[in-house]
Amino acid sequence: MSHEQLRFDNYIDGRAAAPVEGAYLPVYEPARGSVYAGHADSSAADVEAAVQAAHRARTDWAALPAEQRADWLRRIADAIAARADEFAAAESRDSGKPLSLASAVDIPRAVANFRFFASQAELYSSQCHAGNGRGLNYTLRQPLGAVACISPWNLPLYLLTWKIAPALAAGNTVVAKPSEVTPCTAWMLGQLCAQIGLPPGVLNLIQGRGAQAGAALVGHRQIKAVSFTGSTATGAAIAASTAGQFKKLSLEMGGKNAAIVFADADLQRTVDELVRGAFSNQGQICLCMSRILVERSIWPAFREAFVAKVKTLKVGDPADASSNLGAVVSAEHMDKVLRYIELAHAEGGRLLCGGERVRLPAPLDQGWFIAPTVFDQLPFDCRVNQEEVFGPFTALLPFDDEAQALQYANGTVYGLAASVWTRDLARAHRIAADLEAGIVWINCWMLRDLRTPFGGVKHSGVGREGGEEAMRFFTEAKNVCLGG
Ligand code: NAD
Repeated sequence: MSHEQLRFDNYIDGRAAAPVEGAYLPVYEPARGSVYAGHADSSAADVEAAVQAAHRARTDWAALPAEQRADWLRRIADAIAARADEFAAAESRDSGKPLSLASAVDIPRAVANFRFFASQAELYSSQCHAGNGRGLNYTLRQPLGAVACISPWNLPLYLLTWKIAPALAAGNTVVAKPSEVTPCTAWMLGQLCAQIGLPPGVLNLIQGRGAQAGAALVGHRQIKAVSFTGSTATGAAIAASTAGQFKKLSLEMGGKNAAIVFADADLQRTVDELVRGAFSNQGQICLCMSRILVERSIWPAFREAFVAKVKTLKVGDPADASSNLGAVVSAEHMDKVLRYIELAHAEGGRLLCGGERVRLPAPLDQGWFIAPTVFDQLPFDCRVNQEEVFGPFTALLPFDDEAQALQYANGTVYGLAASVWTRDLARAHRIAADLEAGIVWINCWMLRDLRTPFGGVKHSGVGREGGEEAMRFFTEAKNVCLGG
């Protein structure tokens, strides 16, 4: 399908809307390395229309009883679930990820986001403090009005809905901007909201580049809060540009996550889980384990078993159920990952497997595929072990004791996630408490309970999302004291 035929427009005020200036940019299919559609290259004028629509809709939406807002969220969830196969296919084509992953994770989790926050809306409670007979203090948690949700390309619909759902549940109206790299499922979400008759202006979706549409959105004076997920560099730019406006900001950013494997861990299970933890979605999950620290006494055995398992992974057509890895998301991103592989060689690393672009047979011969890559012999403080690669790349490193494991694990500017692998529970809890990370898994990876707060520390995140924290982020607390 040519770029002229399939166009991902905006969804504003309950309708599809072409960009005011008529400009479109190409959308690529990573597995083929070719253009298959166009997305609106929205300007400040499109953002203005979307913010005004959200602003007009805010009072009626906030006034709806929570049960009715919850009903709308459930209707959106049901509508996505009814077209789950189409959504999964679109997500896989847009991002290059295996269709099996989009079907098993991305789309069911997007549906779960709406269902979960529908329940949260109904259960949301406030506090009241009886003041020794002198007064009654109660807290009102009121919606903010029009808010912005900005998401990245790695889990397109999942991360977009993770923000939209709590914002709507708390009574806000939303202008959301998906990544320009993966615009399709957001466009489908807009179509679906129009079909089910979601009140106009409650949700608006703006397609376009970060530097243009994104910057106009976060800088808009009527936008009261920004919930952002993406790179640390963009998060810093948003924090700097909005500093004088005192908006509420939630920034979920990059990571350089470490797994710490102790000698008493169940070796094969740990290897299996960490291969998944390093290479799921081609290593393009912010929670992927990109540094694997291994206690020296099991170092050779672990390394051998890990590399043997990685060599069994199949890089292939994302549509093929037997593919473990699909394509990385863009030519630019592929070049970035390949540059880090060159740097790993230059920094003295030893390549254990992968390390190159993979050429599949036609019609995927121009696709952006990279073999799952493992290095060792890289010092913990070299650039490759400090900077986020965000691709099918992980580094193995031995450690001598707990103190050294913690020094390595905590020795980056990031603090998103970590994992600990041991049968010694006392040690697991001790290490978990000392790890500088927003989420720590013990003998598991990526298990998520939507009720728990989620987010990173240090340069990985500001604010917390998930559960009550997310609802609170999208509200302002007001204390009322009733005297007498
Ligand atoms: P990115 O920062 O380039 O873009 C993210 C979003 O921000 C996109 O929608 C983009 O258009 C927009 N944007 C860019 N510049 C902007 C600006 N000046 N103002 C407003 N919006 C702007 O990130 P990416 O490359 O799309 O995603 C990969 C990054 O996301 C990685 O660093 C990864 O670790 C991170 N990530 C973090 C989490 C988390 O939960 N912490 C989850 C997923 C991805």
